Amino acid sequence: MSSTKPRPILVMKFGGTSVANVERIRNVAQHVKREVDAGYDVAVVVSAMSGKTNELVAWVKDAAPLYDAREYDAVVASGEQVTTGLLAICLQEIGLNARSWQGWQVPYETDDAHGSARIASIGGEGILKGFAERREVAVVAGFQGIHTPTGRITTLGRGGSDTSAVALAAGLKAERCDIYTDVDGVYTTDPRIVPKAHRLDKVAFEEMLEMASLGAKVLQVRSVELAMVHNVRTFVRSSFDNPAQPMPGTLICAEEEIMEQPVVTGIAYSKDEAQITLREVADKPGVAASVFAPLAEANIVVDMIVQNVSADGKTTDITFTVPSSDYARAVAVIEKNKDELGYTLLQSAQDVAKISAIGIGMRSHAGVAAKAFKALADRGINIRAITTSEIKFSVLIDVAYTELAVRTLHSLYGLDAA
Ligand code: ADP
Ligand code: ASP
Ligand code: MG
Repeated sequence: MSSTKPRPILVMKFGGTSVANVERIRNVAQHVKREVDAGYDVAVVVSAMSGKTNELVAWVKDAAPLYDAREYDAVVASGEQVTTGLLAICLQEIGLNARSWQGWQVPYETDDAHGSARIASIGGEGILKGFAERREVAVVAGFQGIHTPTGRITTLGRGGSDTSAVALAAGLKAERCDIYTDVDGVYTTDPRIVPKAHRLDKVAFEEMLEMASLGAKVLQVRSVELAMVHNVRTFVRSSFDNPAQPMPGTLICAEEEIMEQPVVTGIAYSKDEAQITLREVADKPGVAASVFAPLAEANIVVDMIVQNVSADGKTTDITFTVPSSDYARAVAVIEKNKDELGYTLLQSAQDVAKISAIGIGMRSHAGVAAKAFKALADRGINIRAITTSEIKFSVLIDVAYTELAVRTLHSLYGLDAA
């Protein structure tokens, strides 16, 4: 018999370090039990054990440099199958009903963009039935989906279990989505490189979206998009806390919920950038279009763009950045169009990093970025390119100065912990 009043639903997600071995998985089971005892129906989304997905990716690349993306997904999705089964067993061991669900069983229906598929819809009827009939904890494989028309397994892109969790929380109408990781919340910057970083109690969706897209890998960008669109109450918290005394972590929420808004909320960095400069391009209308249209057609996202007068005073130099993973393709596209573009020299650099400052408070303050340019110059850090938008600005610098630049901006905007 199903119970009369439906219980509130909670989605809990545990990342790679949180399920790194059986002992850690037993610890996860204790966190889950706490929430079941508190009266929730729980769906737990798990990642593969830490390092596992990297190993699987390396095997695929070793097997063939130009591999079949569908088989890549078949291989890399396997890490999550292991941890779902192990967690279900550990939950059963402490007296809970539990079963594993692979992506195709839930199902997570996605498009066929193998390696970075997007979720189109989520089933979840079986999970709800398990809640109602058996109070059964659902242990769901993160990262995995299925493209139903072809029946093939897909994966959601690296870090995709965050997205699996938030999407499930939206689909099951969960009260909350708790993302457990190896830090106790979202920090003002990556605590691994700035020990003075401090934890934020709340971060606005827009800020988290920028931080994630600009390099803060604590949440996958798409998970933040989904949380924002579906208004999912999402917390980032630590699985290393004592399961009996959990800490609240960081709430990702609407801007209105945050009382005190500093000008800069956080600093992010990304080393996954490459810079390309085309020297002495003819300075005439349409030239930028002829450079960037073929890149767009090749699905290459161009980020920072700088155009300035060449040394000869007659032509123009165009500098832009692309993701490192697209660097070789971008160069090939440009070289293919060399005759039309008419540049004299293509220069490139891969040893660059993008440092960004993010904050909703920037909307109402002038001169925020100017302050940073001066502070970086005072430390002898050369800026290669700049972009700004309403709530962030980014500078491109030599990769060797990444940590110094992040620390400099972190102090400059008063973010260092006392
Ligand atoms: P998981 O395996 O749990 O998904 P990730 O490694 O994907 O964990 O994300 C957690 C890591 O994100 C942290 O260990 C931390 O080094 C890094 N990180 C980067 N920027 C931030 C930030 N602003 N706040 C917290 N963690 C951050
Ligand atoms: N295991 C996958 C990865 O390493 C998904 C995740 O951890 O979120 O990218
Ligand atoms: Mg992650």
